[in-house]
Amino acid sequence: MTAARTEDGSPGRHDVDRGTRRGEFDLITSLFAPLARRHPAALNLADDAAVLPPPEGGQHTVVSMDTLVSGVHFLPDDPADLVARKAMRVNLSDMAAMGARPLGVFLSVALSPAEGDTWMDRFTEGLERDLGDFDMGLLGGDTVATPGPATFSITILGTVPPGTHLSRGGGRPGDRLWVSGTIGDGALGLKALQGELPFLQEDMRAALADRYRLPRPRVALGLGLRGLATAALDISDGLVADLDHMCRASGCAARVETASVPLSTPVRRCIDMDAAWLDAVLGGGDDYELLFAVPPARDTAVHALGVRLGIPLTPVGELIPAAPGEATSETRVCLVGPTGAPLTPRASGYRHGWD
Ligand code: ADP
Ligand code: MG
Repeated sequence: MTAARTEDGSPGRHDVDRGTRRGEFDLITSLFAPLARRHPAALNLADDAAVLPPPEGGQHTVVSMDTLVSGVHFLPDDPADLVARKAMRVNLSDMAAMGARPLGVFLSVALSPAEGDTWMDRFTEGLERDLGDFDMGLLGGDTVATPGPATFSITILGTVPPGTHLSRGGGRPGDRLWVSGTIGDGALGLKALQGELPFLQEDMRAALADRYRLPRPRVALGLGLRGLATAALDISDGLVADLDHMCRASGCAARVETASVPLSTPVRRCIDMDAAWLDAVLGGGDDYELLFAVPPARDTAVHALGVRLGIPLTPVGELIPAAPGEATSETRVCLVGPTGAPLTPRASGYRHGWD
């Protein structure tokens, strides 16, 4: 995009301020075009759009988009390379949740006056690193300036053989519920960065903050769950809220034994200090682990998959028949505490301002 003003002279979209840092054209040619060499479809960003051939073997294209806003989805003083990698990884996590193999990304950057050349250099380093680590191309994008907070939006493309994508809606009563990795690190990582966990050792705070800033999308796990899981999604809003999404889509309810939810050492330490942190663990977001349902007859296959990939996979409960009558998220997701008594979390996932 180019014009700061529309043709009739009225204020249009803001162009990148050419006086204080590289302009739009420079950003594209010096920073982004070198990354586009990874995929011929990008045409080196020298044209107006990418031209993609049909995927090999009649595969289907899976497309998703996720946006990060400064001050909302990352902290304004987060390292720029980690902001870029988080933007990539929340999108990669959607590919993982669908069982898709990532192919490439389109990147929209809206820069505020706070992001100068040095910041963008570091941002690009982060992009380059994750494009390499996840074997993807930068296929195109858009570059603008904004008077508001910096905003990064990525559209990701992936592929699946027809009919094999994972969905939220295939779960059935009796299916066992599994999660990858550990739960609650993302939510408590944000608390650590906000100075709310002063009682924790420095290295534990750093480990949690790292999980918040740099999610680990479970792409290989998503691929391995094709043909195994009846339902899957990635935990971005929080275990309870995302399980509720699966229940709604699958027409089921769920029971989760909270004592079996896998916790990292720093998260366990927080709960040992004050059991109220369990609410943040079950209700908070940003874990980007996978939650999936599998009939118990396939337990051995799930175990074998976890071992093959070196990813801890933990059963946390099961899908159960929906309760009769009007369902709410409280009746759909039953949390059972260590004594067998039902628990009600105080927070049921991050809600955007307009909910
Ligand atoms: P137009 O002005 O026609 O919208 P642009 O000048 O914005 O086109 O973009 C020129 C090329 O650079 C296009 O191929 C576009 O996809 C690419 N591009 C622009 N911004 C980015 C970005 N942030 N990341 C990757 N590619 C970009
Ligand atoms: Mg153009």
